[in-house]
Amino acid sequence: MTAVNPSGWRPATPVAGEGSATATVTGNRALMLEEPLLFEIGRRDQTGVDVAAAGEGESRLGGLERGGVDLPGLSEPEAVRHYTRLSRQNYAIDLGLFPLGSCTMKHNPRLNEKIARLPGFADIHPLQPKETVTGAIELINRLAFWLIDLTGMEGVAMSPKAGAHGELCGLLCIRAALEARGDARQVVLVPESAHGTNPATAAFCGYRVENIPATAAGRVDLEALKARLGPDVAAVMITNPNTCGLFEPDMKAISDAVHAAGAFVYCDGANFNAVVGRVRPGDLGVDAMHINLHKTFSTPHGGGGPGSGPVVLSKALCPYGPLPYTARYADGTVKLIEEEDAGEEMPDSFGRMVAFHGQMGMFTRALSYILSHGADGLRQVAEDSVLNANYILRSLEDVLDAPFAHSGPCMHEAIFSDKGFADGFSTIDVAKALIDEGFHPMTMYFPLVVHGAMLIEPTETESKANLDQFIAALRSIAERARAGDAALKEAPIYAPRRRLDETLAARKPVLAYRTPAPDGADSGEGAGIGGG
Ligand SMILES: *Cc1c(COP(=O)(O)O)cnc(C)c1O
Repeated sequence: MTAVNPSGWRPATPVAGEGSATATVTGNRALMLEEPLLFEIGRRDQTGVDVAAAGEGESRLGGLERGGVDLPGLSEPEAVRHYTRLSRQNYAIDLGLFPLGSCTMKHNPRLNEKIARLPGFADIHPLQPKETVTGAIELINRLAFWLIDLTGMEGVAMSPKAGAHGELCGLLCIRAALEARGDARQVVLVPESAHGTNPATAAFCGYRVENIPATAAGRVDLEALKARLGPDVAAVMITNPNTCGLFEPDMKAISDAVHAAGAFVYCDGANFNAVVGRVRPGDLGVDAMHINLHKTFSTPHGGGGPGSGPVVLSKALCPYGPLPYTARYADGTVKLIEEEDAGEEMPDSFGRMVAFHGQMGMFTRALSYILSHGADGLRQVAEDSVLNANYILRSLEDVLDAPFAHSGPCMHEAIFSDKGFADGFSTIDVAKALIDEGFHPMTMYFPLVVHGAMLIEPTETESKANLDQFIAALRSIAERARAGDAALKEAPIYAPRRRLDETLAARKPVLAYRTPAPDGADSGEGAGIGGG
């Protein structure tokens, strides 16, 4: 750790793994600016705001006051530059192709942003009297109408705030329906091809999770599933399209078997973008399914949010949905039901999941996306996302092992494995080399059913030229991995940081800044956030 001189400026620290010399005094490389931690540049004697000193007062905290929290003080330009510099080291969908499988990192149309910023939507407050926000409620109803129509279901809970939250909502509906008939089933079956959030949600709800194996073709083993069904099974959670990027063609047979055994079908619909406009989950016997507005309907995500995970429900589950809830009536109209009408309309609702109506800003963007595409445009979204993924699959299957390529076309994402790489080379080397080529890495080592999995989802918003550039980069990296090119182990060489100890960072994160010991010895034992 280099000592800080009185003005706060410190000479550049050589970056680990790059030899002893830095090329420049500042550590910057032209427009690649090296940026220390906030705690290393901030000073207690400066601040970006001028607040008059508090006068003398009598504390009413009963002795529970805290001392200084020791936050670094920065002037406004310093704070702005700090975050702007860091933001330039980030990757974003606005910079390039973002191939994270299962995450659907597609372009966020700017029209949606414009609509979401209209003052009538942007400047309202959830505690305003209802009469003053009828437009917002109408917007929720219209979006709900589309979601119900596109899925062929009976009603929708708009409030869940992400995919995993939607899963929780769906399982709580299933539990309420089972309890209403005095049935205390304990088990939720989850196939190996399901998303990792599914077993986590079931366990969070207090269910015992049991695995159903996948077939060699990467699909749910229908016979194994049927054999396990019984009076203790509450639900089966199926991801469709599944995390191998494949459609589950036995979905109707699965639903029929599950219903015959008195259980419910939860469908993880986060990947609905692959089938929207072509398949209605309601026709396949699904009882509950979340839709990720932040995937299928292009609302911005990444960096932890915000998501939006409305849950559509079948007729059997509708009475138990949460409040607020949007129901479809016999005449085709939809209506938002809130607590004040619940006694009459939804006496068996399991209750409320969030304080207000959900992610209003995402609703606005999603409806804008839906209306600007129209029914035919949404169908085209699904077709183009599948076309792009298959283009990647077929363009690379000669250099990357594609474990399910023999079982037909993939859906919206292509999966490869590390089979065929030289000894000692794995998926991580490919991911790191992609960074040097200017791409965010793909989803790796997931799903677990494929060894060294590389799950690539290009989405429909990439042009053929972009796909070709990505394919050329990945082809060259794959060839190097097959040949055992030792230089690949050095990647990334152009990133601000090289290979970090990601395991240590995950297992022993340093979550608070510790002032380095005066002798320059490193006081931290772990790595990660705030590690000096
Ligand atoms: C993204 C995703 C989820 C989780 O959604 P979040 O909004 O991140 O909670 C669940 N299942 C599948 C298949 C997904 O792709």
